[in-house]
Amino acid sequence: MQFHILTLFPEMVENGLQTSILGRAIQKGLIGIHAVNIRDYTQDKHNKVDDYPYGGGAGMLMQAQPVYDAWKAVAKPAEGKKPVRVLFMSPQGKTFSQEMAKELAQEEELIFLCGHYEGIDERVIEEIVTDPVSIGDYVLTGGELPAMVMIDAISRMVPGVLKNEDSGVTESFQENLLEYPQYTRPEVWEGKKVPDILLSGDHARIDKWRLEKSKERTKARRPDLYEKYDLSGRALEYLLK
Ligand code: SAM
Repeated sequence: MQFHILTLFPEMVENGLQTSILGRAIQKGLIGIHAVNIRDYTQDKHNKVDDYPYGGGAGMLMQAQPVYDAWKAVAKPAEGKKPVRVLFMSPQGKTFSQEMAKELAQEEELIFLCGHYEGIDERVIEEIVTDPVSIGDYVLTGGELPAMVMIDAISRMVPGVLKNEDSGVTESFQENLLEYPQYTRPEVWEGKKVPDILLSGDHARIDKWRLEKSKERTKARRPDLYEKYDLSGRALEYLLK
Protein backbone atom coordinates (compact mmCIF):
# COMPACT_ATOMS: atom_id res chain seq x y z
CA MET A 1 0.00 0.00 0.00
CA GLN A 2 1.33 3.41 -0.96
CA PHE A 3 1.00 6.48 1.30
CA HIS A 4 1.66 9.92 -0.22
CA ILE A 5 1.99 12.70 2.35
CA LEU A 6 1.70 16.33 1.20
CA THR A 7 3.50 18.35 3.87
CA LEU A 8 5.81 21.30 4.55
CA PHE A 9 7.94 19.02 6.77
CA PRO A 10 8.68 15.84 4.78
CA GLU A 11 11.62 14.83 6.98
CA MET A 12 9.31 14.69 10.00
CA VAL A 13 7.08 11.99 8.51
CA GLU A 14 9.92 10.16 6.78
CA ASN A 15 11.98 9.91 9.98
CA GLY A 16 8.99 9.12 12.16
CA LEU A 17 7.83 6.11 10.17
CA GLN A 18 11.11 4.26 9.61
CA THR A 19 11.46 2.29 12.83
CA SER A 20 10.33 -1.09 14.16
CA ILE A 21 7.29 -2.78 12.57
CA LEU A 22 6.64 -0.04 9.99
CA GLY A 23 10.33 0.15 9.07
CA ARG A 24 10.31 -3.60 8.35
CA ALA A 25 7.07 -3.28 6.35
CA ILE A 26 8.72 -0.59 4.20
CA GLN A 27 11.80 -2.76 3.64
CA LYS A 28 9.59 -5.70 2.64
CA GLY A 29 7.70 -3.47 0.20
CA LEU A 30 4.35 -4.01 1.98
CA ILE A 31 3.92 -0.27 2.44
CA GLY A 32 5.58 2.75 0.84
CA ILE A 33 6.02 6.23 2.35
CA HIS A 34 6.25 9.03 -0.20
CA ALA A 35 6.56 12.45 1.43
CA VAL A 36 6.02 15.39 -0.93
CA ASN A 37 7.32 18.83 0.04
CA ILE A 38 4.55 21.31 -0.79
CA ARG A 39 7.15 24.10 -0.84
CA ASP A 40 8.78 22.49 -3.91
CA TYR A 41 5.64 23.45 -5.86
CA THR A 42 5.36 27.13 -4.97
CA GLN A 43 5.52 29.61 -7.86
CA ASP A 44 6.57 32.39 -5.49
CA LYS A 45 10.10 33.64 -6.19
CA HIS A 46 10.86 33.76 -2.45
CA ASN A 47 9.57 30.19 -1.93
CA LYS A 48 6.64 31.46 0.15
CA VAL A 49 3.71 29.09 0.69
CA ASP A 50 1.55 31.12 3.11
CA ASP A 51 -0.14 34.50 3.36
CA TYR A 52 -2.46 36.57 5.57
CA PRO A 53 -6.12 35.57 5.76
CA TYR A 54 -8.62 37.82 3.93
CA GLY A 55 -10.86 39.58 6.43
CA GLY A 56 -8.09 39.65 9.04
CA GLY A 57 -7.54 37.37 12.00
CA ALA A 58 -4.68 35.54 13.63
CA GLY A 59 -1.83 33.78 11.86
CA MET A 60 -1.07 32.77 8.31
CA LEU A 61 -2.80 30.43 5.88
CA MET A 62 -1.26 27.99 3.42
CA GLN A 63 -2.03 29.12 -0.11
CA ALA A 64 -4.05 27.08 -2.58
CA GLN A 65 -1.60 27.02 -5.54
CA PRO A 66 1.35 25.04 -4.06
CA VAL A 67 -1.02 22.57 -2.36
CA TYR A 68 -2.94 22.02 -5.59
CA ASP A 69 0.21 21.52 -7.68
CA ALA A 70 1.73 19.12 -5.12
CA TRP A 71 -1.53 17.13 -5.23
CA LYS A 72 -1.53 17.13 -9.05
CA ALA A 73 2.02 15.73 -9.02
CA VAL A 74 0.93 12.58 -7.14
CA ALA A 75 -2.76 12.18 -7.91
CA LYS A 76 -2.61 11.25 -11.60
CA PRO A 77 -5.33 8.58 -11.71
CA ALA A 78 -4.34 5.68 -13.98
CA GLU A 79 -6.68 4.86 -16.89
CA GLY A 80 -9.82 3.11 -15.62
CA LYS A 81 -8.85 3.50 -11.96
CA LYS A 82 -10.81 5.48 -9.39
CA PRO A 83 -9.16 8.67 -8.11
CA VAL A 84 -6.97 8.30 -5.03
CA ARG A 85 -8.72 9.43 -1.82
CA VAL A 86 -7.32 12.59 -0.20
CA LEU A 87 -7.44 12.63 3.60
CA PHE A 88 -7.19 16.16 4.97
CA MET A 89 -5.78 16.20 8.52
CA SER A 90 -8.16 18.57 10.29
CA PRO A 91 -9.60 19.06 13.79
CA GLN A 92 -12.89 19.66 11.95
CA GLY A 93 -12.94 16.18 10.35
CA LYS A 94 -14.60 12.93 11.32
CA THR A 95 -12.82 11.35 14.29
CA PHE A 96 -10.41 8.61 13.23
CA SER A 97 -11.17 5.12 14.56
CA GLN A 98 -10.05 1.50 14.29
CA GLU A 99 -13.02 0.90 12.00
CA MET A 100 -11.76 3.64 9.65
CA ALA A 101 -8.24 2.18 9.77
CA LYS A 102 -9.60 -1.18 8.60
CA GLU A 103 -11.68 0.40 5.86
CA LEU A 104 -8.83 2.59 4.57
CA ALA A 105 -6.43 -0.38 4.53
CA GLN A 106 -8.47 -1.76 1.61
CA GLU A 107 -7.18 1.07 -0.64
CA GLU A 108 -4.06 0.62 -2.77
CA GLU A 109 -3.00 4.26 -2.35
CA LEU A 110 -3.93 7.17 -0.09
CA ILE A 111 -2.96 10.84 -0.08
CA PHE A 112 -2.60 12.66 3.25
CA LEU A 113 -2.79 16.46 3.23
CA CYS A 114 -1.14 18.10 6.25
CA GLY A 115 -2.05 21.66 7.15
CA HIS A 116 0.17 24.01 9.15
CA TYR A 117 -0.09 27.54 10.60
CA GLU A 118 -3.78 28.48 10.74
CA GLY A 119 -4.70 25.94 8.08
CA ILE A 120 -5.23 25.96 4.30
CA ASP A 121 -7.18 28.17 1.85
CA GLU A 122 -10.69 26.66 1.77
CA ARG A 123 -10.88 26.67 -2.05
CA VAL A 124 -8.23 24.00 -2.52
CA ILE A 125 -9.74 21.91 0.28
CA GLU A 126 -13.08 21.99 -1.60
CA GLU A 127 -11.30 21.06 -4.82
CA ILE A 128 -9.22 18.03 -3.78
CA VAL A 129 -10.22 16.64 -0.36
CA THR A 130 -12.42 13.53 -0.17
CA ASP A 131 -12.17 12.77 3.58
CA PRO A 132 -11.48 15.38 6.30
CA VAL A 133 -10.23 13.40 9.32
CA SER A 134 -9.36 14.39 12.90
CA ILE A 135 -7.44 12.46 15.56
CA GLY A 136 -9.40 14.06 18.41
CA ASP A 137 -10.90 17.19 19.86
CA TYR A 138 -7.74 19.21 20.37
CA VAL A 139 -5.68 21.46 18.09
CA LEU A 140 -2.12 20.59 17.03
CA THR A 141 0.39 22.80 15.22
CA GLY A 142 0.32 20.66 12.07
CA GLY A 143 -1.15 17.64 10.33
CA GLU A 144 2.11 15.63 10.34
CA LEU A 145 1.53 13.86 13.68
CA PRO A 146 -2.10 13.00 12.80
CA ALA A 147 -0.93 11.61 9.42
CA MET A 148 1.68 9.47 11.18
CA VAL A 149 -0.87 8.23 13.71
CA MET A 150 -3.26 7.22 10.91
CA ILE A 151 -0.56 5.65 8.71
CA ASP A 152 0.59 3.55 11.67
CA ALA A 153 -2.94 2.31 12.47
CA ILE A 154 -3.80 1.65 8.79
CA SER A 155 -0.50 -0.16 8.10
CA ARG A 156 -1.16 -2.63 10.94
CA MET A 157 -4.28 -3.70 9.03
CA VAL A 158 -2.33 -4.38 5.81
CA PRO A 159 -1.82 -8.16 5.41
CA GLY A 160 1.73 -9.26 6.31
CA VAL A 161 2.66 -6.14 8.31
CA LEU A 162 2.04 -7.77 11.70
CA LYS A 163 4.00 -10.99 12.23
CA ASN A 164 1.06 -12.67 13.90
CA GLU A 165 -2.11 -11.84 11.96
CA ASP A 166 -4.14 -12.70 15.09
CA SER A 167 -2.74 -9.79 17.07
CA GLY A 168 -4.65 -7.36 14.86
CA VAL A 169 -7.85 -9.29 15.48
CA THR A 170 -7.70 -9.78 19.25
CA GLU A 171 -6.75 -6.22 20.13
CA SER A 172 -8.85 -3.44 21.63
CA PHE A 173 -11.89 -2.19 19.66
CA GLN A 174 -12.55 -5.50 17.90
CA GLU A 175 -16.21 -6.30 18.59
CA ASN A 176 -16.39 -3.04 20.59
CA LEU A 177 -14.37 -4.46 23.49
CA LEU A 178 -11.06 -3.38 25.02
CA GLU A 179 -8.37 -6.04 25.24
CA TYR A 180 -8.06 -8.20 28.39
CA PRO A 181 -4.99 -7.80 30.70
CA GLN A 182 -1.82 -9.55 29.54
CA TYR A 183 1.20 -10.89 31.47
CA THR A 184 4.66 -12.23 30.61
CA ARG A 185 7.60 -13.76 32.54
CA PRO A 186 8.37 -13.92 35.44
CA GLU A 187 5.38 -15.67 37.07
CA VAL A 188 5.81 -13.55 40.21
CA TRP A 189 6.96 -9.93 40.06
CA GLU A 190 7.17 -7.70 43.16
CA GLY A 191 4.95 -10.21 44.97
CA LYS A 192 2.26 -10.03 42.24
CA LYS A 193 1.39 -13.38 40.69
CA VAL A 194 0.11 -14.03 37.18
CA PRO A 195 -3.55 -15.26 37.38
CA ASP A 196 -3.54 -19.09 37.82
CA ILE A 197 -5.92 -19.63 34.91
CA LEU A 198 -3.29 -18.40 32.42
CA LEU A 199 -0.89 -21.14 33.58
CA SER A 200 -3.53 -23.88 33.41
CA GLY A 201 -3.08 -24.76 29.71
CA ASP A 202 -6.90 -25.02 29.44
CA HIS A 203 -7.46 -22.82 26.37
CA ALA A 204 -11.26 -22.91 26.44
CA ARG A 205 -11.27 -21.62 30.05
CA ILE A 206 -8.57 -19.06 29.22
CA ASP A 207 -10.67 -17.69 26.32
CA LYS A 208 -13.72 -17.45 28.60
CA TRP A 209 -11.70 -15.67 31.31
CA ARG A 210 -10.28 -13.24 28.75
CA LEU A 211 -13.73 -12.40 27.39
CA GLU A 212 -15.00 -11.74 30.93
CA LYS A 213 -12.01 -9.49 31.68
CA SER A 214 -12.52 -7.63 28.39
CA LYS A 215 -16.16 -7.03 29.26
CA GLU A 216 -15.36 -5.91 32.85
CA ARG A 217 -12.67 -3.53 31.61
CA THR A 218 -14.77 -2.05 28.81
CA LYS A 219 -17.75 -1.55 31.14
CA ALA A 220 -15.56 0.29 33.68
CA ARG A 221 -13.37 2.33 31.30
CA ARG A 222 -15.49 2.84 28.20
CA PRO A 223 -19.20 2.52 29.02
CA ASP A 224 -20.01 4.10 25.61
CA LEU A 225 -18.21 1.23 23.84
CA TYR A 226 -19.71 -1.39 26.17
CA GLU A 227 -23.18 -0.20 25.27
CA LYS A 228 -22.43 -0.92 21.59
CA TYR A 229 -21.00 -4.35 22.47
CA ASP A 230 -24.01 -5.13 24.62
CA LEU A 231 -26.40 -4.18 21.83
CA SER A 232 -24.63 -6.35 19.23
CA GLY A 233 -24.30 -9.19 21.80
CA ARG A 234 -28.03 -9.07 22.56
CA ALA A 235 -28.88 -8.97 18.84
CA LEU A 236 -26.72 -12.07 18.30
CA GLU A 237 -28.38 -13.90 21.22
CA TYR A 238 -31.79 -13.02 19.77
CA LEU A 239 -30.80 -14.36 16.35
CA LEU A 240 -29.39 -17.56 17.87
CA LYS A 241 -32.70 -18.14 19.68
N1 SAM B 1 -7.45 26.96 12.32
C1 SAM B 1 -7.74 25.55 12.27
C2 SAM B 1 -9.09 25.25 12.93
O1 SAM B 1 -9.43 25.95 13.89
O2 SAM B 1 -9.77 24.30 12.51
C3 SAM B 1 -6.65 24.75 13.02
C4 SAM B 1 -5.34 24.81 12.31
S1 SAM B 1 -4.11 23.85 13.11
C5 SAM B 1 -3.31 25.03 14.12
C6 SAM B 1 -2.96 23.54 11.83
C7 SAM B 1 -3.11 22.19 11.15
O3 SAM B 1 -2.87 21.15 12.08
C8 SAM B 1 -4.47 21.87 10.55
O4 SAM B 1 -4.65 22.44 9.27
C9 SAM B 1 -4.44 20.36 10.51
O5 SAM B 1 -3.81 19.88 9.34
C10 SAM B 1 -3.60 20.00 11.73
N2 SAM B 1 -4.38 19.57 12.91
C11 SAM B 1 -4.49 20.24 14.07
N3 SAM B 1 -5.23 19.57 14.95
C12 SAM B 1 -5.60 18.42 14.35
C13 SAM B 1 -6.39 17.31 14.76
N4 SAM B 1 -6.96 17.24 15.95
N5 SAM B 1 -6.57 16.29 13.87
C14 SAM B 1 -6.02 16.35 12.63
N6 SAM B 1 -5.26 17.40 12.20
C15 SAM B 1 -5.06 18.40 13.04
